[in-house]
Amino acid sequence: MNQGGQTRRQILKAAVCGGAGIVLGAPVGRLFGAPAQAVPQVAGTLRLSDDLFVVSIPGEANVIAQTGAGGVLLVDGGSAAASEVLMKAVSGLPGGGPVHTIFNTHWHPEQTGANEQLGNAGRAIIAHENTRLWLTTDVTWPWDGRRFKRLPKIAQPNRTFYETGKLDSGVRYGYIPDAAHTDGDLYVHFPEQNVLAVGDAVSGQGWPVVDWTTGGWIGGIVGGLQRLQTLADAETRIVPARGRVLGLSDLKAQYEMYGTIYDRLTQLLNKGRGPGEAVAARPTQEFDAQMGNPDEFVRRAFESLWAYVSPDA
Ligand SMILES: [Zn+2]
Repeated sequence: MNQGGQTRRQILKAAVCGGAGIVLGAPVGRLFGAPAQAVPQVAGTLRLSDDLFVVSIPGEANVIAQTGAGGVLLVDGGSAAASEVLMKAVSGLPGGGPVHTIFNTHWHPEQTGANEQLGNAGRAIIAHENTRLWLTTDVTWPWDGRRFKRLPKIAQPNRTFYETGKLDSGVRYGYIPDAAHTDGDLYVHFPEQNVLAVGDAVSGQGWPVVDWTTGGWIGGIVGGLQRLQTLADAETRIVPARGRVLGLSDLKAQYEMYGTIYDRLTQLLNKGRGPGEAVAARPTQEFDAQMGNPDEFVRRAFESLWAYVSPDA
């Protein structure tokens, strides 16, 4: 079980590593074949505006950093293993400095690895209340046995909300109640820079993880894509946790695609089919050439329906 999980994680890391290099044009070729425990290095930063950056570390989720006179605001903080490298990169940004605030777009360790360090330093850790709750309990993914330990109190979000909020700087944030990825997803909106950070509620690279253990589901992916379109215009840069920066047209295209897949999966469910049969029915076939092998995604997406629309529920 563990062995399998490990292998998948390494595959995922390799995939993300390659993707980040292409997106940001950074030279990550040298990292191929590097040992799994190699010290993470910053591959590059993408400047979105004078004060807003995407920091990319191979194998890590995207981190957004906003610099300012009072220090740096982060949207997500990478994994714990990458924390030191990230903090160094952030303080080295033009106008950079120590972090004063971090948003957790959801509870996954790829987003919350810097929490302990920042919590110990007395910084604000902002998250949806559901994200805080998941971080106070141990979680195990039934599909691969991967276990997540609760975070120490000091590392848990210390400023939570339910619907929306606004910082003095004008940055706005809000809950994505559709539960696209987990039931604690949030967005962060930088209106002045016209940038929208969406975490894993939208994937910028390949099929998404549907974490139904903590509330995510395929219907939520569709709902989230619809909701987030209302916060964007044709010029908005939309930054997901994984992959490249997206635009409104990408959200529209993804909304169509996941809507189609959702319809097909619910039809299969209503016919009494199971996850294996859903995979065999190839409900994503016209998208696979572009998106990659869908089996894991289809299985999780189908299972996620049990919690929300099971005819037996
Ligand atoms: Zn995630």
